[in-house]
Amino acid sequence: MIIQKYKTCVFCGSGKLKVNKCQKFIHNFYTRSIKNDLDLNDIFFKKMKTYKCINCHVIQNNPWFSKKTSFKIFNQIYGQHNRNWLNVLNFFQRGLKPNHGNLFNILVKNFKIKKYCEFNAPFMGLMIDFFDKEYNQNSKFNRNIFNYSLSYLSSRQLAGFNKSLRNKKEKEAKKNLKKLNKFKNKISVNNVIKKTLIVDNSYLSWLYNDNYKSVNSRSLASELFDIDIEEFNLKKKSKKYDLFGLFNTLDHTHQPKKILDYALNNSKYVLIYYHSNENLERQHLFSLTNKFIFYLKKNKIFCSNLTLDISKKFKTKEVYILCSKFNKVNI
Ligand SMILES: [Zn+2]
Repeated sequence: MIIQKYKTCVFCGSGKLKVNKCQKFIHNFYTRSIKNDLDLNDIFFKKMKTYKCINCHVIQNNPWFSKKTSFKIFNQIYGQHNRNWLNVLNFFQRGLKPNHGNLFNILVKNFKIKKYCEFNAPFMGLMIDFFDKEYNQNSKFNRNIFNYSLSYLSSRQLAGFNKSLRNKKEKEAKKNLKKLNKFKNKISVNNVIKKTLIVDNSYLSWLYNDNYKSVNSRSLASELFDIDIEEFNLKKKSKKYDLFGLFNTLDHTHQPKKILDYALNNSKYVLIYYHSNENLERQHLFSLTNKFIFYLKKNKIFCSNLTLDISKKFKTKEVYILCSKFNKVNI
């Protein structure tokens, strides 16, 4: 089964879905790859219609790809999360941080952040900013620490090698890890915060093939940033965070409301960043819209729309909402 029906809102579960008037379909880079790899025709894509939820204002496609097929889309057809990797490479090779305007400075200035958590994709939000703040080193140091991390992890991959090559790789791994730790220990890192990446391994997100030079993004993030990686669905105890970042990941899980509720219940503040896509493309199951903030407010969540306050030049429609269940968010 390639396609399945999504009759209720994938975010809030409401049945109040209104079909959109405009149902124009144009192929893009992603849909062309899906069409090719799954051997589909355009009639298939035209069967998908976009709907708007009256309750939470999310836009979704129905019917859309089944969970089984979405695994193929995010792990095979375009299994590498390009933006995620571009953020890492831009920083460690070119000294450029992910473009969230001056959001990071605003947040650290206004809040005491000791425990920070992000969801699913490790390089989309503020982990790189925290690394830069804590180590506060030049570009040569950053390049070295990145290269040693990457080399260490790739030299731990031994499949298919004969004994002498395995021995060579073993020596490389030890050498790279030693250099990496020497670099880390040389710097007295001040005010280190506790960083966690919660993952839910959704078939709507990049998992097993989100690799660069054969190294997976989560393995690299764990080594490079010393973050804890925790599985959402196995979590028994709640943990309290000061800030929880959802950076373009809330629309890449099949349980978005559960994730947002967890974040709101366990963190003083939650930052939701998303593309507001009224003309939902066919490679996405759903998208949050500009009006999502009204849904949050209706549910007694304190919200502040920071989009216009972070000095960022936008090429596409993007939204930054800071919210909290417990505290007013006046920045
Ligand atoms: Zn809804």
